[in-house]
Amino acid sequence: MAGNELEGRVALISGGARDKGQGAAEGRLFSAAGATVVLADVLDEEGERTAGSIERAEYAHLDVTSDADWERVVADIVARHGRLDVLVNNAGIAAMGRLVNVTRADWDRTIAINQTGVFLGMQYGARAMIDAGNGGSIINISSIAGMQGMFGSMAYGASKWAVRGMTKIAAKELGRHAIRVNSVHPGFIDTDMLAQGELDGDRLARAVPLGRVGRPDEIAEMALFLASDASSYCTGQGFIVDGGVYG
Ligand code: NAD
Repeated sequence: MAGNELEGRVALISGGARDKGQGAAEGRLFSAAGATVVLADVLDEEGERTAGSIERAEYAHLDVTSDADWERVVADIVARHGRLDVLVNNAGIAAMGRLVNVTRADWDRTIAINQTGVFLGMQYGARAMIDAGNGGSIINISSIAGMQGMFGSMAYGASKWAVRGMTKIAAKELGRHAIRVNSVHPGFIDTDMLAQGELDGDRLARAVPLGRVGRPDEIAEMALFLASDASSYCTGQGFIVDGGVYG
């Protein structure tokens, strides 16, 4: 639920193009809370359409593996809006495969997008936040695959564990600038990513104590909490939103 928690703040959300995705859900909720929102992705047509449906939202082309893209997008936001307050590193891919059969190409691509993409986002985002001097909140979307060993997720799990670890390191370094860094660990969420995995929805739901897969807006609520001052004393932590699967 959004009030005016993010009034006057500017938020950049990577991987926000897909209307059914978590990034778009975060964009809608952040906008409802008063933020100016930049959705960034490589799916330009979908991204323009999704941003066009959200108040105070715009779209930017951003390949998270590209230094040059991050530099351009962050500089453009600062030039036009004067600040960057919230960064959600949400972009990701789920290439599944076991240790013995994951391909080198899938490994490299997963690490490049899910891990290096988050590293670059934090680096360029934090520099802009430090320069602006307003503090900030960085939210890295990991997974329950970054909390536990998950069968068949060698590359994906490795990248999501790395996101959890990088979050803790960055939080230690950025605390002095009033920049908070936290990770979110979704369980099974009903988006195109889950559908692409061709996983059996009913079987998945049975594995969840709450008896169903999650909705993107349920992750967005956690992201809003972490983006807003409601979480002003939280940093370096991983927040699990999974219907009770982990533990
Ligand atoms: P999604 O596929 O809708 O969103 C991922 C987005 O990332 C897509 O829009 C895609 O185009 C974008 N993307 C991919 N490569 C990119 C690149 N190089 N540069 C910029 N953008 C790129 O799926 P989602 O479920 O909304 O995923 C959002 C995040 O949540 C991901 O990091 C995912 O790993 C994580 N997650 C998802 C689930 C789930 O069950 N759906 C569970 C745990 C974690």
